[in-house]
Amino acid sequence: MIRKKQRGQLIVLSGPSGVGKSTVISELLSERSDIYFSVSFTTRKPRVGEEDGVNYCFVSKETFEGMIGRGEFLEYAQYVDNYYGTSLRVIEEKLAAGIDVLLDIEVQGAAKVRDKCPDAVFIFIIPPSFEELSRRLHSRNTDDESVIEGRLRKAREEYKEISHYDYLVVNDKVSDAAAEIMSILVAEGCRTKYR
Ligand code: 5GP
Repeated sequence: MIRKKQRGQLIVLSGPSGVGKSTVISELLSERSDIYFSVSFTTRKPRVGEEDGVNYCFVSKETFEGMIGRGEFLEYAQYVDNYYGTSLRVIEEKLAAGIDVLLDIEVQGAAKVRDKCPDAVFIFIIPPSFEELSRRLHSRNTDDESVIEGRLRKAREEYKEISHYDYLVVNDKVSDAAAEIMSILVAEGCRTKYR
């Protein structure tokens, strides 16, 4: 039987810090403006050029912990000393309205989403090599050496989770990575059965 999907598709994108996820996401959203990008809450301080409400909703630790207590997150995680979380209400509203929603979240958060939303599509994005990841983190010029070391260590741990993802995309060239993700989404939209 052919079923028409009424709810939006939840798309989870993970990958090590510095892999270029934000750039790939910008490229993807420029082609697929119908997808809603979920702006996460974080206790991390904004980097130069980041805007509140656009890149993240930047909040204090107290505010974040209050939101945890009230059950306002679909998922949240601690990552390199900061909290990051996805608003449950916004995601639920968009999916119910038939809008596809994209989450850029790390692996612990993705594992929670996998439990709660098994029909989401899980995509992991990697750099061509670790040397290239280190080069990208240094060229970003936003973090000191100890933070970069922490992020590289974290990346090695995150790689162990790849087998839990449905798709793997290598971000060598941004336009190619974005095109691969678009192809994945087209294929997902053509499924005869849903997970
Ligand atoms: P960054 O500090 O580099 O912006 O993000 C660090 C990590 O946090 C990235 O891997 C990013 O995907 C992840 N992240 C961003 N928002 C969320 C969120 O709402 N939940 C979780 N679990 N991770 C997030």
